[in-house]
Amino acid sequence: MALLPHVSRRAAVFGAAAFPLIRIVKGQSRPKNIAVASANGVRACAKAIEVIKSGGDTLDAVIAGVNIQELDPNDTSVGYGGLPNEDGVVELDASCIHGPSRRGGAVGALQGIKTPSKVAQLVLSETDHMMLVGEGALRFAKHYGFQEEDLLTERSRMAWLTWKREMRDHNGHTNWESGVDAPPAPKKTAELRKLFPHMDDELIAWAHEVAARPPTGTINCIALNEKGEMSATTTTSGLAWKIAGRVGDSPIIGGGLWLDQDVGGAGSTGRGEENLRIAGAHTIVENMRHGMSPKEAALDALRRVARNFNNDERRMQAVDLNFYVLRKDGEYCGASLWNKRSVTATTAASFSVCQNDGRSHLENSVYLLERR
Ligand code: ASP
Repeated sequence: MALLPHVSRRAAVFGAAAFPLIRIVKGQSRPKNIAVASANGVRACAKAIEVIKSGGDTLDAVIAGVNIQELDPNDTSVGYGGLPNEDGVVELDASCIHGPSRRGGAVGALQGIKTPSKVAQLVLSETDHMMLVGEGALRFAKHYGFQEEDLLTERSRMAWLTWKREMRDHNGHTNWESGVDAPPAPKKTAELRKLFPHMDDELIAWAHEVAARPPTGTINCIALNEKGEMSATTTTSGLAWKIAGRVGDSPIIGGGLWLDQDVGGAGSTGRGEENLRIAGAHTIVENMRHGMSPKEAALDALRRVARNFNNDERRMQAVDLNFYVLRKDGEYCGASLWNKRSVTATTAASFSVCQNDGRSHLENSVYLLERR
């Protein structure tokens, strides 16, 4: 396992027990306006800071931020245009936590509503429940005036159909093609082009890529204001081609999202199942409560993920997992299991940040393992 030089030796050797409770108090400065998000959250962070600066609540700020991505048909990991489940149906998960009131809300496997984070916020504010799923969540959303819509775009439908058609038996046969005698490989792209005349070569290549390697996505956003108030949200279309009804880590309070107003918040993107095996977001916040910095706290959580694979890097190749952390004094980090998504990827694992100046930007995440 390749540990990075900037990982504290002390953290690596002693783990959580080495950090006494007082450290967090000593290290903290005055709170400030800041929003942290996953790499697709540059616009979300800018929006969150805009809302905070105009006097808005931190929860309204992060929800308004992620709504941009939820409504963007080109973000295929979230909301409208998100990649669907194996039946070709988009099912969305979201959660939120409001620091000052210490309340949370979540929805799982919600169909037909473009902005699940807003529905999660209503679960938080209008019910004494914590989570609604499936049909009940949809009915609840409709009671509050949300419109049920088809969330599949032309692009996500093409990607799903490509995935469906590429699943073959060992003779190369699929029911989703015109004839058993059809030569599979050369036909694939040509037929797609016929079915989706508006798609260019780049989009067709993308569809083949996501069909072969279901991507991870999701947006998490955490914000702090000058009064020290914090809130956070995570929203996603989940794992592409999942079994209908599968719920990942994003709507699981304590898994894909956790925030304690006294300490800070954390959220995740990536392979939800691996995060749930370590209750990632809660683990990170508890680590900070016991004195770890955001980086140390997140790397400790990632080490627990690696431990579940007996630190076998080969077995972890297909696992993508990222954390975003904001402490209540404004200290923050992004932390990823791998330094980049694949061996051929040219960009480093990164996350979004925006402070009071409104200049939202990407920063590199710390990481546990290095793809060479
Ligand atoms: N964490 C999400 C899930 O497992 C997916 C993702 O981030 O891509 O549902």
